[in-house]
Amino acid sequence: MEYLSTRDKTLRKSAAEAITMGLSRDGGLFTPVAFPSISALEVETLCGMPYRKRAAYIMGKFLEKFRPEELNQFTRNAYGPDKFDHPAVAPLRQMDSKTWCLELWHGPTSAFKDMALQMLPQLLSASLRLTGEKKTACILAATSGDTGKAAMEGFADVAQTRILVFYPENGVSEIQKLQMVTQEGGNVGVCAVKGNFDDAQNGVKRIFSDEAMRETLARRGYFLSSANSINWGRILPQIVYYISAYCDLLNTKAIKLGQPVNFCVPTGNFGNILAGYYAKRMGLPVKKLICASNRNDVLTDFIRTGVYDRNRPFHTTMSPSMDILISSNLERLLFDMSGGRDDLVREYMGQLAETGRYEITPGMRTRLQEVFYGGFCGEEETASTIAMLYQYGYLIDTHTAVAAKVLTDYRKETGDMTPAIFVSTASPYKFCDSVLSSIGAAPVADSVDRIGQMAEATGVAAPARLAALKGKAPRFHDVTERERMEEKVLEFLK
Ligand SMILES: *Cc1c(COP(=O)(O)O)cnc(C)c1O
Repeated sequence: MEYLSTRDKTLRKSAAEAITMGLSRDGGLFTPVAFPSISALEVETLCGMPYRKRAAYIMGKFLEKFRPEELNQFTRNAYGPDKFDHPAVAPLRQMDSKTWCLELWHGPTSAFKDMALQMLPQLLSASLRLTGEKKTACILAATSGDTGKAAMEGFADVAQTRILVFYPENGVSEIQKLQMVTQEGGNVGVCAVKGNFDDAQNGVKRIFSDEAMRETLARRGYFLSSANSINWGRILPQIVYYISAYCDLLNTKAIKLGQPVNFCVPTGNFGNILAGYYAKRMGLPVKKLICASNRNDVLTDFIRTGVYDRNRPFHTTMSPSMDILISSNLERLLFDMSGGRDDLVREYMGQLAETGRYEITPGMRTRLQEVFYGGFCGEEETASTIAMLYQYGYLIDTHTAVAAKVLTDYRKETGDMTPAIFVSTASPYKFCDSVLSSIGAAPVADSVDRIGQMAEATGVAAPARLAALKGKAPRFHDVTERERMEEKVLEFLK
């Protein structure tokens, strides 16, 4: 399987090259030249396999040069019981006769980012071998919370890699900060930046485009790489759980082979739901992909009108991982929906950079609306959805609540009662503050103590690694001015 750039489809790379590079030099995103199909017979076969075998089989279709036994080893490493606290890895939980919740947060950092970031480091290591790259990959990441921790947890002590995470000094939750500064591993580094997330992000971008820095690092035996969802190695492992969830529904006899289902996905950068779309492109019987946003509803408007317009107020919400106005992975969808028109993608991305707005053709809009539905959920509805599901005995986080609410809205509006799965992207214990308030409890002062408070109030066990944060000593204390992040990188890669 070859990969092309969404901005120049004549540019072709192997999977290993695409994963090593992360982003194409022309600014485009690497996308498979064609989608391998998955037959009904194959789905039936996958039904009898555990998650890690399903993952190795499905990913193998996109990674021709990787050996099957190698992929099996990767998925054993990524999804083993030492990493995931549920034997099903990504379990489905039934809500009612037509509704299920897909829990993607049983990994080491309690957010769905683990599903891909436990796999990416292994794909990257293998890609370095396949491409003959001898330099060490240094992953630089700016994070507003979830990605940085999940990336470090994935890359910790992985050979031929280092990882340095920058986070805004006052821009992450106490739990998220503690998760990061207590990270173990000989190849990891964490540094706070005096500024907000944008300052950290801009600093990282500045370092990536600094030629002199590149040369200095190359002399020292390093090259820079990325672990965010522009990297194909982040999207690919996510296709697996859509197919796996379908298998699990078949196994419970809730649906028959070939029967369509809907997925509702809480969306930010459009990486998660894009993987669902790719599963559909492979032939998985998916009818509608329901794109759920919080008050930052740029995607809802886009799906309804065909106009993408980021010129609007930015809202800080209780589902912060979805507070985003530029969804990078939409570029991959545009490429596919336009029938591979790299010229159109270039034009739209140019307009987005210049004016913050673009409008797709009526034909593309029609195709988009055939597959996608967009909806959003405000803060009050997020809280009341958490409270309502809790009454039924199920505790969910704020991001998951957005998806649950938008699925209900979709069914009311369209009357479509196709069996549906809403995707749960974080453990409620990552957002104790908002979840406690939503179920009518007053959060105690200390943020780590809220974990114990919530466990006591709800009787739902906290993920062991979050509970173990209490009393854990920080390893990293570095803080830097935003102009001096370069020095931190050079110090880290001495
Ligand atoms: C990252 C994240 C999302 C958004 O996922 P995208 O792939 O960026 O659309 C949703 N919920 C949680 C908890 C996340 O960490």
